[in-house]
Amino acid sequence: MPEGPSIVILREAAARFAGRKVLRVAGNSTQDIGRMRGRRVLAVRSWGKHFLLQFDGFGLRIHFMLFGSWRIGEAKATPPRLSLGFGRGEALNFYACSVKFIEGELDRAYDWSADVMGDAWDAAAARRKLRAMPQAIVADALLDQTVFAGVGNIIKNEVLHRIRVHPESPVGALPPRKLSELVAQARAYSFDFYRWKQDLVLKQHWQVHAQRTCPRDGTPLSARRRLGRAQRRAFWCDTCQRLYGADRDPRAANPPP
Ligand SMILES: [Zn+2]
Repeated sequence: MPEGPSIVILREAAARFAGRKVLRVAGNSTQDIGRMRGRRVLAVRSWGKHFLLQFDGFGLRIHFMLFGSWRIGEAKATPPRLSLGFGRGEALNFYACSVKFIEGELDRAYDWSADVMGDAWDAAAARRKLRAMPQAIVADALLDQTVFAGVGNIIKNEVLHRIRVHPESPVGALPPRKLSELVAQARAYSFDFYRWKQDLVLKQHWQVHAQRTCPRDGTPLSARRRLGRAQRRAFWCDTCQRLYGADRDPRAANPPP
């Protein structure tokens, strides 16, 4: 699944379509995609893992789910969910993604302060939201898109290793300094991810995600296919990642849904 930084890279690559008119629309989406024909793209935006195009009076939202992908200019052999054609034969093609329209202005449709890589990102607001969910384990809190829009499973695993926190620590058990570090590193790591991805060296920088041993202390990493409410794959080091609140009843920290 593409995480926030990949969507920022797509947004930057697609920025050249801002101000241009959609000449052709195709695709197997069941939405009323024809409404974009002849309309001008007013802005190319993104929020977390959502890629967005603002048109006059409505917005297009693309979410890539688990297997979605895109091509700019070229086309894949598989039929696109949505293809937007522009002048000079240029096209934006989306595959295996969710297509949705948002009526009105995108500005009003989203909490922009939650977009971890956005200009309007608000760390204090994120800390406030976290304090309101003391029972949630940090692995789930990091994946909560209302707090950290754009953070996905890789960023989650890497941030928790970076700040030396066990993924099953309840948010409420973190000392205030750790909570601030969590918020700060969710953003900082996202920008590192963005740079490494552009330089095609992202995987070389993974410390724990899909790895076997901790680069800090050589401990064999713990891995679980499904962890927390989000049921996402987790990798961590039991030596250098501290389980905060371990003295509490773990069932109280993570009640069943
Ligand atoms: Zn370690």
